[in-house]
Amino acid sequence: MVRKILLIVALLVMISCQPRIHEVKDTDEIMGTYVSVTIHDHDQAKARQAMDMAFAEMRRIENVLSIYDNSSEVFTLNEEKTVKPPSSELSDNLQKAIYYSNLSDGAFDITVQPILDLYRSSFRDSNRPPSPEEIDSALDQVDYRRIVLNDDAITIGKDQKITLGALAKGYAVDKAASILEQNGIRHALINAGGDMRALGNKYQNNAWRIALENPRDKGEYIAIFDISDKAIVTSGDYERYFDENMSFHHIIDPRTGYSARELISVTILADRAFDADAISTTVFVLGKEGMQLIESIDGVEGLIITNDKEILRSSGLDHLSIP
Ligand code: AMP
Ligand code: MG
Repeated sequence: MVRKILLIVALLVMISCQPRIHEVKDTDEIMGTYVSVTIHDHDQAKARQAMDMAFAEMRRIENVLSIYDNSSEVFTLNEEKTVKPPSSELSDNLQKAIYYSNLSDGAFDITVQPILDLYRSSFRDSNRPPSPEEIDSALDQVDYRRIVLNDDAITIGKDQKITLGALAKGYAVDKAASILEQNGIRHALINAGGDMRALGNKYQNNAWRIALENPRDKGEYIAIFDISDKAIVTSGDYERYFDENMSFHHIIDPRTGYSARELISVTILADRAFDADAISTTVFVLGKEGMQLIESIDGVEGLIITNDKEILRSSGLDHLSIP
């Protein structure tokens, strides 16, 4: 009996001596979306400081890559058609963009901005979609092969405009993850409006649990992903659209000038959010055929939902339970 009591007392002492794990969490609006960072660490002050630095890094990147902020480098590129010399942030993004454009034979193309501008102005001014002639003429401006990328200058065509909406969030999430790592954080989750990166797992070896909602019925789950040290990114037509039935939404098929319609959602898992982000948009444009691209890239997995609600997943996601 005495031994039992001693054992219980010893156990209680051990538990109370274990440093407490704190969850530090914050959310801010960056790059047109809500970004949240969650950190699990024993040292609350260290976690807060690292979190502040991660948010500052994402805001810094937004200031370089936003197309709306008239002091950003991308704004200047769209206005002046050239920047000299480009920042490493802009060069990294254009290099990655051109890489995925080549890989997808142009399905991924950051020069689609004139099409998005046309959709916006047409629905705003007349609440009607643009005419086929207007779409054709905007499509003449779309061609990533006219981007010239050198160490000392970046130039686009005189009639061209770019958007980094398909990959800059992933880039910012990875940069924020590096800042957390450099500051000794081992357990964290960054979520930039569906672009997520997990650093390690949660405390006590639990993976970070990410639920994929049904894009047409929020509150219902399609799948649960348990991730650690991975990025998971979702592209969807429901994220930004111009008309009520989402026929004109924000992901453009550069081969037609119309929004890509075969899929409603694409979720990509990869080591880095930058790649996962670019791949999710590329596959959204490619449609079901995009599964071949997913299977062809090492370390990348994906789940696709078609517009007739079929769910397709890559070979590495066989184990995933889908209700
Ligand atoms: P995401 O939510 O990552 O799929 O990115 C969507 C954003 O990518 C859009 O809001 C546009 O800014 C941009 N975008 C649209 N279509 C394309 C495309 N075919 N290739 C590259 N970027 C695109
Ligand atoms: Mg993307």
